[in-house]
Amino acid sequence: MYDVIIIGSGSAGYTATIYSCRSGRNTLMIAGSVSGGQLMLTSEVENFPGFPQAILGPELMQNMRKQAEKFGPEIIYDDASKVRFKSAPLEITVGNKVYQGKTVIVATGASAKWLGLPSEEKLRGRGVSSCATCDGFFFKEKEVIVVGGGDTAMEEANFLANIVKNVTIIHRRETLRASRILQNRARDNPKISFLFDSKITEVLGSDKVTGVRVENLKTRNESVLHKDGVFVAIGYDPNTSMFRGQVNLDPRGYIATRNETETSVPGVFAAGDVRDHKYRQAITAAADGCKAAIDADRFISEHYSGETYHN
Ligand code: NAP
Repeated sequence: MYDVIIIGSGSAGYTATIYSCRSGRNTLMIAGSVSGGQLMLTSEVENFPGFPQAILGPELMQNMRKQAEKFGPEIIYDDASKVRFKSAPLEITVGNKVYQGKTVIVATGASAKWLGLPSEEKLRGRGVSSCATCDGFFFKEKEVIVVGGGDTAMEEANFLANIVKNVTIIHRRETLRASRILQNRARDNPKISFLFDSKITEVLGSDKVTGVRVENLKTRNESVLHKDGVFVAIGYDPNTSMFRGQVNLDPRGYIATRNETETSVPGVFAAGDVRDHKYRQAITAAADGCKAAIDADRFISEHYSGETYHN
């Protein structure tokens, strides 16, 4: 039986692994078949402290992986398919094997929703982004689009307006879903304009975004807007489907936590974007991973006292 099993390999998962191993706990990391989390989809990361020249997202994750591996965890690069948290020991299935743990740290993250257009997928990371905080700076004095009518879209637009030449918010309805305060902030910003009742049918450009084709959903007229970037802000989906029925989720589907990382199941902790819909930053996820590993370590000390550490 492992002391700590960590599911997920974004910055929360790797940080939890580093801390767990360094506290002498026998640690298994289930990193997933596509490891590295959302930073693998980012280009340069300029806001993670410690890298004054910036660092590429995939390189940062490679560094985290190497740093975690140094402390000797067992790592499985495959996906967990099932969990059973109803009683101790906690169980996780990967392929046809079942792994048992005294504690589990869930760090499976969240995935940005995309429009689902082939052209959007082709130009992701080349002008199509889902994170203004991560990528906005690369659009200094450029013209960009934000898609969506919720709080995230308004926040992204307001953030981008400080950097870019102008922002056009494209929303599929006439009414915004966002809270009044964020709506008003966007409406009052002279750099932000709105295109309502409209949807993007194609992102244009061969190796970088040059514009979008837009359809007016009322008139069915199509037009082309020449722009440099498209920020898709139509919500996030936490990666929690596997945990439904095993641990309490909040009304939005994120893992519900109290006292930082504790879930509804003793010994099961959650870290990063799988529980946090507010900050969603690599650095806050890393901090969460650290907290979850410390919480798991203390849980083992309290509930499995007398046992020797094995690493
Ligand atoms: P959201 O509230 O679900 O809004 C998503 C927006 O994207 C909606 O306007 C929706 O249109 C649009 N949309 C969804 N799918 C689309 C598609 N396929 N094509 C085009 N448009 C699409 O998501 P969110 O803005 O990420 O917010 C999520 C939660 O976090 C909310 O509860 C929000 O209040 C909260 N949040 C709060 C803050 C804050 O308080 N500072 C900041 C960010 C987020 P419709 O309106 O037509 O459905």
